[in-house]
Formats: sequence, C-alpha cells, structure tokens
Amino acid sequence: MISLLGIPYDNSSSFLKGAAEAPDRIRAALHSPSSNLSIENGTMFDLGGLIRDEGDLSLTPGVVHREEISGAIRGIIDEGRKSLVMGGDHSIAYPIIREYARSKTPLHVIQFDSHPDLYDELDGDRYSHACPFARLLEEFPHVELTQIGIRTMNPPCQIQADRFGVRVFEMRDFPAPSVLNIQGPVYITLDLDVLDPAFAPGVSHHEPGGFSVREVLSLIHQIQNPIVGADVVELNPSRDRDSQTAMVAAKFIKELAGQMMENER
Ligand code: MN
Ligand code: MN
Repeated sequence: MISLLGIPYDNSSSFLKGAAEAPDRIRAALHSPSSNLSIENGTMFDLGGLIRDEGDLSLTPGVVHREEISGAIRGIIDEGRKSLVMGGDHSIAYPIIREYARSKTPLHVIQFDSHPDLYDELDGDRYSHACPFARLLEEFPHVELTQIGIRTMNPPCQIQADRFGVRVFEMRDFPAPSVLNIQGPVYITLDLDVLDPAFAPGVSHHEPGGFSVREVLSLIHQIQNPIVGADVVELNPSRDRDSQTAMVAAKFIKELAGQMMENER
C-alpha cells in the first residue's frame, strides 16, 4: 500500500523558486487523457486502490515545516504504508528520510542527482536543497548513501563524500556494473536534474551531460531491494515546456510505484 503525497515547498532553493508548483503539475500529468496509468511491468498505477492520494501537505511558513513533513511521513509509516512523494525542492529529502532512519534498522539511500547535495551549508543555510544528505548522514551514521549521475563534484562536496563514506557514481563513471550492488532496504530519492536537460528542461539547474529517461528507468527496474519509500523532486514548472518534464516526473512516479510493489512480492 502506497501513499502518494505532494509537498509543495521551494523556500530552500538556492537559485530559482517554482518547485512548489510541481505536485499539481505532476498530478495533472498523471491524469492527462494523453496517457494512462499503466506501468511497464504490466500492472496499473492503482489510484484509489493500492495507491492512495493524500493530497498536498499544507505547510506553515518558517522552520516548523520540517517537523510537519516528518510528521506526515511518520503518519504514513505508522499506517504500514510506503510514502511516494512529489516535491518540492530537494531539501525535503532530509525531513522525509530521517523518519525512516529513526528506526535504526539498515537503510541505504539511492540518490539520482546531477549534484551531490552534501554541502555543510550553502549561502548560510544548513537546510538548503544543496545540503539534505549532509544533515541526514551526520545525524544517522548507520544510513548508507549511493549517488548516481553526479557531474558537479567539487572539492567541498568531495571532502564531505569522503567524510561520510558515500558511494559516488559520477556520470563519467558509466557504465558502472556495480552501481546497484546494495544489500537490504532502500529509499529512492530522484532529483530530475539527473536527466540531461534535453529530456527534462523543467528544472532549476540545467546540468548538461546527464542520463536519458530510459537510462534512469532501466536502473529503477534493476533495483531488487525492498523499497521503503521514494520521492521525485525539483520539477520547476516555470522552466518546463508543454509539460514535457511534468510527464517525465509522472512516469517516474508510476514506475517507482510499480517497482515498490513488485519488490514486495
Ligand atoms: Mn538534488
Ligand atoms: Mn540536483
């Protein structure tokens, strides 16, 4: 059972706002009559059945929003459901994933991203969308992180990656046969800027030299671990063209749900 949740938050974006509008656009793409709710494994994105749309979280301005996000995820976990979140900027990954990390059971986070998001702080903000995995790993040393698709690994983030023992697979490392040699339960966090901007123009940070949609789908389909939850973040509708990137985000939501359910069986 999966709970689909929108988190319309973009106040921790360092460059452009707009990601707060994403959940509505992804929902519209999911329901667009131009496509349907089929998943490539032959199942359906069963809205109203195995998948419940919880709507969008209403957030209070100020730092309390992180507690509200964590509280919503806690509620979903306590119901025995898996969370599937439509962001929002990537800062929301920290308050989401810490709820899974608090159980102290093994957890491996798989991050698709062009950026490592490991800064100790950016522009004076320790909770920027450039910092969520630094916050997570310093608070929860038992959590492991594999990053896929990175192409902006600079010296400060490399120091952090070394400090936390992050498995980093940069774009230039591919093909990388060992990338998914991971044991135990995983959480998947998918920043749409992992894609080449040719496939996903509707993001705040265009980083050329990324994956195709098919390459990311193929990696998702190869994950055999139990998946405790997932998110798709950083869609910025103000940069999108003809909802092209919103359709890509909706596709990832459907395929992540399909893989979550398939790996349960
Ligand atoms: Mn990111
Ligand atoms: Mn990114």
